[in-house]
Amino acid sequence: MSGKLNMTSAAIHSEEALQHVDLKRDVTKHLKRGHRWIFANCFDEARTGKSGIRLLKFKGEPLALGIWQADTQLRFRVLLLTEEPIFRRNNIERTLELYFDSQWRKALEIRKTFDLSITNSFRLINGEGDGLPGLIVDIYNDTAVIKHDHPIMEKVWNAKAIAEKIQAAYPHIKCVYLKRRNDESEKGVNIVGTLAPEVQFLENGVLFASNIRDAAKTGFFLDQRDNRKIIQHFSSGKTVLNLFSYTGGFSLFAAKGGAKEVTSVDIAKVAIEAVERNFKINNLPTTHHDVAADAFDYLEKQILEKKRYDLVITDPPSFAPNEKSVEQAKAAYTKVFSNSIKLVNSEGLFAASSCSSHISSQEFMEICQESFSRARKRATLVYFGAQPVDHPYPLAMEELRYLKFALFRLD
Ligand code: SAH
Repeated sequence: MSGKLNMTSAAIHSEEALQHVDLKRDVTKHLKRGHRWIFANCFDEARTGKSGIRLLKFKGEPLALGIWQADTQLRFRVLLLTEEPIFRRNNIERTLELYFDSQWRKALEIRKTFDLSITNSFRLINGEGDGLPGLIVDIYNDTAVIKHDHPIMEKVWNAKAIAEKIQAAYPHIKCVYLKRRNDESEKGVNIVGTLAPEVQFLENGVLFASNIRDAAKTGFFLDQRDNRKIIQHFSSGKTVLNLFSYTGGFSLFAAKGGAKEVTSVDIAKVAIEAVERNFKINNLPTTHHDVAADAFDYLEKQILEKKRYDLVITDPPSFAPNEKSVEQAKAAYTKVFSNSIKLVNSEGLFAASSCSSHISSQEFMEICQESFSRARKRATLVYFGAQPVDHPYPLAMEELRYLKFALFRLD
């Protein structure tokens, strides 16, 4: 991918002569309900062409403006329908500008709920959830991170124009960084200012540090914010095991809630070093053990040693990256959850989470039931959580409600 960013001043960039794509199947109803995705089988197989902004037509009639992804099964991502009052057939550039501004304003309105003196890390733009497919903007204190999920998005979304809008809304932002996939040669580019090697930010009064350039996602798992707060409320005086800890999000909140002892386990050594760093900058007195290990092996070992904890948190990575891997993923979740449950003291707590969009809430609860059954324990559901307000999704796109979190008390 080229490092060049486009030169227009509009936030959404469309080529001068707008091309169109023809739909083969009638998905009008699906789009009118607010769904924003059309898959490759709805188009003529032979039609791939270049990716970019296109006018979608059905039976010769314009239906929507959106982003054509020539090389993925997810082939078309809707921006807006032509029936919307702001659509101007003869002025696409103006249409896109009006559309962007209205989505941007609505996105800011939701994020006003954050008191920046307590929480200055949040997702400002959540892709289709904010009506802006392929665009993610996360805020970490004075740093904004832009991230895309397809190479064409660097051409569609004008990072310079977006950076200006970010700074207009949040004048304290000094750096806007465009983060690419970690395996790309150029990991990212500074759009405004220079990315600091470490950025410190607040989540509900707890300080975290992140090396944004090398970190997973844009730097932190912002989506567990509300669930970490629940852990804080249930941690006083407890011994806590946090499996798949990453940089210690749940561990720090357990400590803040007065946990007696917190053990964090993650396979990535850099993540475990970051847990130590996060404990240090918060100056918390809690005893903590930071272990770089495979959580599956660690669990087996602890079961043999008959170790027990008052609270175990298990938040694995997505075991189901696609529909085909769901059955295998269910087996992996069941194994890791049931082994986690075996380590919980009687009347203790177990928190399970899954971020896989291919596992529904109902399937997740079935996995939890099976896991308790395998561990020969019964439990009560104390709390069920999902993604927070800065991770909205269109009502018609249930598949974008990906995060599940359940807190159980063993009976
Ligand atoms: N709970 C974390 C996010 C977890 S993300 C938070 O609140 O921030 C999942 C983590 O699992 C990643 O950090 C990854 O390094 C880790 N991981 C993946 N496979 C693992 C394994 N087999 N054993 C331990 N950790 C693993």
